[in-house]
Amino acid sequence: KPILLWFRKDLRLDDNHALQAAAISARPVIPVYIREPEANGCGPLGAAQEWWLHHSLTALQDSLHELGSKLVLRKGDALAAIEKLIEETGAEAIAWNRRYDPAGIAMDIQVKKALRDAGMEANSFAGQLLHEPSRLRTGTGTPYKTYTPFWRALEQSGEPPFPVDAPAKLDAPSHWPQSDSLGSWSLLPTKPNWASSFADIWTPGEAAARERLDDFIEAALDGYAVDRDFPDRPATSLLSPHLALGEISPARIWHATRGLPEKIPTDNIVRFRKEIAWREFCYHQLFQFPKLNSANWNDRYDDFPWRSDAELFDRWRRGQTGYPIVDAGMRQLWRHGWMHNRVRMIVASFLIKDLLIDWRKGEAWFRDTLVDADPASNAANWQWVAGSGADASPFFRIFNPVLQGEKFDPDGGYVRTFVPELADLDSKYIHRPFEAPENVLQRAGITLGEHYPLPIVDHAVARRRALDAHASLRNET
Ligand code: FAD
Repeated sequence: KPILLWFRKDLRLDDNHALQAAAISARPVIPVYIREPEANGCGPLGAAQEWWLHHSLTALQDSLHELGSKLVLRKGDALAAIEKLIEETGAEAIAWNRRYDPAGIAMDIQVKKALRDAGMEANSFAGQLLHEPSRLRTGTGTPYKTYTPFWRALEQSGEPPFPVDAPAKLDAPSHWPQSDSLGSWSLLPTKPNWASSFADIWTPGEAAARERLDDFIEAALDGYAVDRDFPDRPATSLLSPHLALGEISPARIWHATRGLPEKIPTDNIVRFRKEIAWREFCYHQLFQFPKLNSANWNDRYDDFPWRSDAELFDRWRRGQTGYPIVDAGMRQLWRHGWMHNRVRMIVASFLIKDLLIDWRKGEAWFRDTLVDADPASNAANWQWVAGSGADASPFFRIFNPVLQGEKFDPDGGYVRTFVPELADLDSKYIHRPFEAPENVLQRAGITLGEHYPLPIVDHAVARRRALDAHASLRNET
């Protein structure tokens, strides 16, 4: 009798412990992916990530094919879909890799209980994180609330389990249950096709993820610690969308950074591992505080006097704020479904502190437009910038978008790529076009207010207003 192998955000064959268990179970294996409804909080994904999902499922179908298997696609409530598959196939067991978002956890508990009560074998496995969130605890047994001791504990807790290779073959059932066609799910945008430029830089699927990892280690890891902050340098791994849908495991990444040639200075390797650990720390936060994307971790911020200004929010979304580094970031997000980490911090600070717009609105926009949208990393980082999060950046640290631009994009290469109307502007003014003399603007073919907007707020004024708003909050209790 078959075993169902339930894929979720773990769309890979490599280092997949549920797959491994199914493969050695001596049962025919029926791989299945269920598109769960929004009502149970497990889906659908944001629109940009749905684009990714479509291509990732296609890649997974192809690699399962090579193992002599298939991927069965179903949609609807997970438990109902699984029960139907059991009825149709006579399956007696199911395996999956654990997920750590609150809705996913709740669903998995429900499914496991219902199936076990019905006499099924239902087993879940680790592998989406380096360590299970219940494992890393402080000396007094409580979860970590600050990153540095968390990192120390992670470092001291030993290497994560060594990754397991994909099986060479999967036993097929004598007959396959019906599958939805992927096309019928309409995951790709049609008119307008706003994802048309995604494929310029992205190839979804686990083979591309492995290639990305290898290229990064080969070409960029040496220098990562410094270069990672400069958005115009090809310095970061670009692994985040692959990690978000589980096309590569963090353990595979971690172990790939062991035993490297000595020419790569250790600080680069440590710095990269520390970022992988930030992802882990975000999941620990979500695990402890399921409302991470809807409520302030620190409830002192519950009374924050947010402003709601639809026009300003729209200017931010469209990259029309008049601050080039902010606009470049927001346009990179729209064009590629991704934004450089340094610039994410700058645009988030601008929304929250310069515009005084609730961080939750920014979190929701990112969730819909990022191909790497992640329930833990997105919410935790927005709260980090807002000052309301665990171990957050203090609210009074307000990024100056001009100085940030000048420091991290000194020649304006990043701005010129994503804000082409400023391409010919002198580097001296590339981050402050509103201060450029008329003849400099003229030479670059720019009329401010016509080709490129004037700033929608004066940063110095906005900064003072933000600090006043923050001062109006009750003191820390
Ligand atoms: P690299 O520098 O190569 O880092 C390697 C990996 O480490 C990343 O792929 C990612 O998994 C992890 N990582 C790096 N920085 C962070 C971080 N600050 N927090 C958590 N994990 C990190 N990351 C997401 O994956 N999904 C999100 O939805 C997301 N939303 C964000 C929202 C805001 C406001 C901010 C400031 C950051 C957000 N990040 C998010 C974190 C970070 O910007 C991205 O992980 C990073 O830019 C991805 O690029 P990379 O893979 O080239 O990173």
